[in-house]
Amino acid sequence: MKRRESLSLLERLYIFEVIKGVIQTSGHLFKHFATFLLRTIGLMKNTKPWATYEYPDEARPYAERYRGRHRLTLNGDGSMRCTACFLCATACPAKCIYIEASEHDDPQIEKFPNRYEIDTLLCIYCGYCVEACPVDAIRMDTGIHPEIYPPDPRAFIEDKETLMLRSRVLEDLGPEALFKAHMKKLKDIETKPFETDY
Ligand code: SF4
Ligand code: SF4
Repeated sequence: MKRRESLSLLERLYIFEVIKGVIQTSGHLFKHFATFLLRTIGLMKNTKPWATYEYPDEARPYAERYRGRHRLTLNGDGSMRCTACFLCATACPAKCIYIEASEHDDPQIEKFPNRYEIDTLLCIYCGYCVEACPVDAIRMDTGIHPEIYPPDPRAFIEDKETLMLRSRVLEDLGPEALFKAHMKKLKDIETKPFETDY
């Protein structure tokens, strides 16, 4: 920013600066208006004259490193990779991960999480749980933002099955399917409130 004493006489009169601002703003207005008119007659289809997104019909593309909703990753046989080591729960600054470990029937496996829950109402989406996991059992690479749940705090708790199903859908149908299903659910909320599965 220029210091006040270094402004020229014309700049200090302000009126010319105001006129410059009005011309610049009007230029953008007329440019976008002309683009809009051309689009209505079928031209310039690939140019968007507005900066907004028609959410939820149209979603803003997320950055590659966007931290989306959690998922518990799976082994090749569909079992969960988590070994119930509690490192994620220990690292979590919001203390919103609850794990109950149990002995596994398979003597080769020491223990597994009989219960694994994340209270997404408390979660601050910091990603520390992902960083802390030594076996890559939890990820936030779903590309979908937090769910809208009914006005009941208990509904925001995502359990083991929900977190595993998210991985299954992502692996079977791909991120696009997961994203589309998520956006459809958000659109359906007005007619069929709060029916969610993954
Ligand atoms: S993202 Fe952060 S706050 Fe959320 S569960 Fe993981 S560690 Fe906890
Ligand atoms: S998700 Fe990872 S860090 Fe958390 S309990 Fe399971 S294995 Fe340990």
